[in-house]
Order: sequence, then structure tokens, then C-alpha cells
Amino acid sequence: MEMPIPDPAVLARKDRLVARLMAVLPADAVIHDLAETRAYECDALTAYKCPPMVAVLPASTQEVSDVLRICHDEGVPVVPRGSGTSLAGGALPTADCVILGVARMNDVLETDYENRVIRVQTGRTNLSVTGAVEEEGFFYAPDPSSQLACAIAGNIAMNSGGAHCLKYGVTTNNLLGVTMVTMDGEVVELGGAHMDAGGLDLLGLICGSEGQLGVVTEATLRILPKPEGARPVLMGFDSAEVAGACVADIIKAGVLPVAIEFMDRMLIEVCEDFAKADYPMCEALLIVEVEGSDAEIDHQLALITEIARRHDPVALRESASAEESARIWAGRKAAFSAIGRISDYMCLDGTIPVSSLPYVLRRIGEMSKHYGLPVGNVFHAGDGNMHPLICYDANKPGDLEICEAFGAEVLKLCVEAGGCLTGEHGVGIEKRDLMSHQYAPADLEAQMAVKDVFDPQWLLNPAKVFPLDISEARRAEPIAAE
Ligand SMILES: Cc1cc2nc3c(=O)[nH]c(=O)nc-3n(C[C@H](O)[C@H](O)[C@H](O)COP(=O)(O)OP(=O)(O)OC[C@H]3O[C@@H](n4cnc5c(N)ncnc54)[C@H](O)[C@@H]3O)c2cc1C
Repeated sequence: MEMPIPDPAVLARKDRLVARLMAVLPADAVIHDLAETRAYECDALTAYKCPPMVAVLPASTQEVSDVLRICHDEGVPVVPRGSGTSLAGGALPTADCVILGVARMNDVLETDYENRVIRVQTGRTNLSVTGAVEEEGFFYAPDPSSQLACAIAGNIAMNSGGAHCLKYGVTTNNLLGVTMVTMDGEVVELGGAHMDAGGLDLLGLICGSEGQLGVVTEATLRILPKPEGARPVLMGFDSAEVAGACVADIIKAGVLPVAIEFMDRMLIEVCEDFAKADYPMCEALLIVEVEGSDAEIDHQLALITEIARRHDPVALRESASAEESARIWAGRKAAFSAIGRISDYMCLDGTIPVSSLPYVLRRIGEMSKHYGLPVGNVFHAGDGNMHPLICYDANKPGDLEICEAFGAEVLKLCVEAGGCLTGEHGVGIEKRDLMSHQYAPADLEAQMAVKDVFDPQWLLNPAKVFPLDISEARRAEPIAAE
């Protein structure tokens, strides 16, 4: 994986830059010593590391604006950072950049239960948004498995999803408004505290823009009344094909579960070992959850289990208690940590039409043999979002490169199957060089023209999303600085 060579002229301006940043931020919010900047050298795609030149931790929109104005003035690239849990390398620094972390911006600014909205600073973690409203019987729906750590900032930048997004949609469906600071320090408001806004859907453009267009500092989020109850059912099958057919039949029947999650044998074993979730041992496991009143749950689960029975499940078990439900989800949500305990791994994130699941899984199995690296599959089956986890040995020379080649082939397969390079983790650096596989040059040019409007000098997160060779001319534009 290639990154641009750091600009020596930018590096030479470090002392002046630090002095200017210290003039607008408290001293402990400007980190420039190498031993301390190392804390920001990578995100959760830990295969790639590079300490930034400087990291800053502003506490308000005004401070973010001051920082960006100075960096703009000095011609210094800025990489926005939430909690650093990106699996796509979205928050990976370059040696000549300023990391702008929003972790200190974690306040709740307003809660409005009557209109079902909450306004937060974007450094607030996903789970603590629900934490702020649950006593009143509300919750924030998007639930990435990293929700204990990841910030609303990163959720907006990556348009993150989660197991329960089948019913509630992903971040973009639950985001009503943002305050954003553009690279030249201008503060803009997009959307509001209500559904939709007049004019172009700029909010839709910002959500999923991977820190390329501005730094999002505040967000107005939709909160929902908590359902009366929820209950998962475990379904084991002796092949992925049969599990895939069962998912298709559930969706066709018009029942809308809140989640349908798929795990293959490798993931079932690893998660069971880690979380003691009491999963049945089989080739393919589905966790299907429905919610509502007891009567609604009974009705929906009766329909769903009847469909499952037509596919000869080797196991079929409804959760019998809140504790059992929590255990079932603890296993699934710990999937990445559980596999991380036994091996280095790269987590892929592609989407496919649900009907091509058996074909795609079979091809991934064949590729695993070809490349000689084990792979486990976990999958938001209801919406076709795959997460193959390729295991490799970071200490074995050449293994990472084999893993990268394997991963690239899997993502190309997703596109060929009629899907997309990314579902919820974003492009970052991980899928950057594959963008040309999915998009024609004219499509990429149109996408880059959007960045030109918001960030004409290409200073915000400039080495991400677009293949380096096609963005080179824009990134190489001479930057105004003394
Ligand atoms: C164990 C584990 C499980 C995960 N499970 C899921 C899952 O179920 N679903 C899912 O969607 N993702 C998942 N992820 C990926 C990751 O948690 C999400 O992408 C998350 O939204 C990143 O949030 P963050 O705050 O950590 O962002 P970071 O990693 O800090 O940054 C991510 C991107 O956002 C940009 N950014 C950060 N802050 C701002 C800002 N203020 N303004 C503009 N841009 C900004 C960065 O430049 C970068 O491009 C998982 C990750 C891990 C490690």
C-alpha cells in the first residue's frame, strides 16, 4: 500500500505551525513530540502505521475553525479523527499532516423528546448517545459493533451501519443536521432538527464523505422510542446455500426482522470460544431478531421459524430470556475481537445482492485455498453486507501482501456479483486503489470535482478514497505558504 511522500517544505514549517496552534489551543491540546504522536499512528487497520507531524485536540467548533484556518494558511494536510476505529485506514496519518481529533468534543448539547432528536458534539461515542436518552425510553438506532468506542464523527464520515440497521437504516437515515467546518475555517450548518431540508441534499453528500469535504463538529440525530421487547432466534444449517435460501424466503415473506446475521463455521467456533454464547456447531448460523410486544414477537417468530423449518435446519432455538439474548449478541458483536485473539486479520467489507451469497461464499472458499490463508465469514445477511475476515501472520514476510491480493480479489468479486466495494466501513486507503475497478474515469472525475468545490487545495484527508495516480495532479497543486 502506497502513501504520498511527505512534503519536505511542509515538514520544515512544523515549528511555526506548532507555535500558531499553541496560540489558539491550550498547550495540552497540541501534541508534537514523536513519543506522543505515536498514539495516533494508525486506526483499527493496524497493518499500516505512520505518526503524524502534529495532533490537535480542539474542544469546540470555534477551536476547530481556528485550527483549520491556520492549517489552510500554512498549506498543511489535515486528517480528521474520531475514535480511530476505522477498518479501512480512513484516519491513517501521513508524516506531514495534522491529525485533528474530536475526542474532547463529547457533550450532549440538547435533547428534545417531543420531536425525538438529540444534538451532540461529534466526539461523543455511539453507545453513549443511547446512554443519554435511555432513561426516557429512547435509543439511537445505528449500532456498529464498535459502538462502545467509535464516535458519531466517524459514523457520519463512514455512513456506518450495524446489525440492527436492516430495519432502522444506517447513519444517513438517522442524521438530521450537522455543523461542519470547511478547510478554510468557515462554519456551515446543513439540515436541521427536522426531516429533510430545502435545496440540494448536501447533508446526504456529507454523510459518507470520509473526512474529504469538511470536519463535522456537531450533529442532530434522530432518536426513537425503545421497542417493548426483542427476541432473537438461532438457526443452524448444514450449508451456506441453504442458509442463504432461508434468508431470501424470510425477506420475500414480507416479515421485517430488525436483524439477520450470518456466521460460517470458523466464526461460530471462534466466537463461541471467546464469548460462550452457546451457539450450535454447524456450517452456517443465522441470528434473526424481531421486536415489538410479546404478541407481535410471537407472531413474527412463528412465521420465521415456519420458513426456517422448510429448509431442514440442524438447530432452531428461540432465546428464552433477556440473558440468553444478550449472550447471543455478545458472541456476534465480539466477532472481530474473537478472531483478533487467534490471528492477525484483515476485515473486508463488500456488498452483494443477497441472492448471490452462496456463489460468492463458494468463490471465497476457493480463493482461500489458492492463497493459502484461512478466511472466516460474518455477514449482515438481510442487506447483503459481507465481512470476510482474512487471517495472516504480520510477522511472516510476504504474508500481508498475499492477504492484500486476496482481499482485492474478493472485493472485485463483490462488484462482479452486482454489488459494491464497500458496505459500511468506507473506502479509506484499503479500497482506494480498487475504485477504478468499480468506477469509470468519468465517474471518478465527477466525484473528485465535488471535493474540488469544498477543498480546492486538497488538504483534507488527501491520500484517501481516490487512487493516488488519478488524484496526483490535484494533490500536487502548489500550496500558498510563505
Ligand atoms: C471491532 C470493530 C467492529 C466494527 N464494527 C463495525 C460495524 O458493525 N459497522 C460499521 O459500520 N463499522 C464498524 N467498524 C468500523 C468503525 O468502527 C466505523 O467505521 C466507525 O464509524 C469509525 O468511527 P471512528 O470515530 O472511530 O472514526 P475514525 O476511525 O477516527 O475515522 C474514520 C473516518 O472518519 C473521518 N472523520 C473522523 N472524524 C471526522 C470529523 N469530525 N469530520 C469529518 N470526518 C471525520 C476520518 O478522517 C476517517 O476517514 C468496526 C470497527 C472495529 C474495530
